[in-house]
Amino acid sequence: MSLLRGPVLWVTGLPPVRHLVTERTLGQRVAGRFVAGPALEDGIRVARELRDRGLGTILDHLGENVESKEQAVAATDDYVLAILALRSRPEIGGAVSVKLTQLGLDLSVDGCHENMERLLAVAAEADPPILVMIDMEARQYVEATLEVYLALRERHPNVGVCLQSYLYRTADDAARIAGPNAIVRMTKGAYLEPPEVAYQDRRDVFRSFAALSRDLLAAGSTVHFATHDPRLVAGAKAYVHGERVPRERYEFQLLYGIRRDLQGELMAEGEPVRIYVPYGTQWYPYLTRRMAERPANLWFFASNALRLRG
Ligand SMILES: Cc1cc2nc3c(=O)[nH]c(=O)nc-3n(C[C@H](O)[C@H](O)[C@H](O)COP(=O)(O)OP(=O)(O)OC[C@H]3O[C@@H](n4cnc5c(N)ncnc54)[C@H](O)[C@@H]3O)c2cc1C
Repeated sequence: MSLLRGPVLWVTGLPPVRHLVTERTLGQRVAGRFVAGPALEDGIRVARELRDRGLGTILDHLGENVESKEQAVAATDDYVLAILALRSRPEIGGAVSVKLTQLGLDLSVDGCHENMERLLAVAAEADPPILVMIDMEARQYVEATLEVYLALRERHPNVGVCLQSYLYRTADDAARIAGPNAIVRMTKGAYLEPPEVAYQDRRDVFRSFAALSRDLLAAGSTVHFATHDPRLVAGAKAYVHGERVPRERYEFQLLYGIRRDLQGELMAEGEPVRIYVPYGTQWYPYLTRRMAERPANLWFFASNALRLRG
């Protein structure tokens, strides 16, 4: 597997560099900027460091699109371990985030739902219950993801879901799930989606993010502003303070390794901030999305490749 395959190759047009370096060494170096490490202990170590700096954590065990029931059950087991680790360390105040295709959504919606039930049961035993967020994946998974989320939230107040403001459909989806029992992570969206389903102009994505967040908050939902965009962050701050939105109904979320300056600013202002901390060995698709979001990251990649070569 080469780092420059797929979307990254699409972005850069660069040739594969497999002949320059061993993929494991290069991968570890580059992934190290965005990923806590290969094991749960790495995620917990980073969560502790963040806690010491006054930041919360949302742990993401990397992986998606499993191909067998056994893999889906194994991924669920891994998440149970993560939740147990957070339960035994309440001082971290951590949450977890899950991709439904990692829990078998491609294989069976019912099986995936059962796996989520198992996670949520363990999360509910913590006091207070541990928050379990559902990541949003590519467009073909949106409807099934929302259906699983809506069914789960009837029994579990500690489950939330991500929405992507680049999709046209999200306005309807947000209206469908809005309300005091909704916990929504608002994002721009990280997948390459065509004009038939998604805004292509960044200004439209921006406007949609702001409008959807406002509508969700106005309906009593809890909103996690998951963005590194300083203008969206400023707008969100102005709105929540202007409307006196209670602190427990919003927070800012940023990805591990990205815009530490903004993390620090928000913290210094006393805003609730949580960092999304991926760990595990399945970092390739995650890293690919981070590269596509910001092609400048490719310089980081390239300089590491050249350093290893020299
Ligand atoms: C906590 C969290 C959870 C997320 N969960 C999901 C999800 O479940 N599903 C989904 O589709 N998307 C998810 N995303 C990704 C999101 O959809 C965007 O792709 C990503 O956040 C980049 O958009 P932005 O809002 O930060 O704005 P941008 O305009 O892309 O970025 C604003 C600024 O942030 C910095 N920045 C942004 N991205 C990077 C990067 N990769 N590397 C370095 N600097 C960067 C740059 O300084 C940039 O100028 C999540 C994002 C966050 C923060």
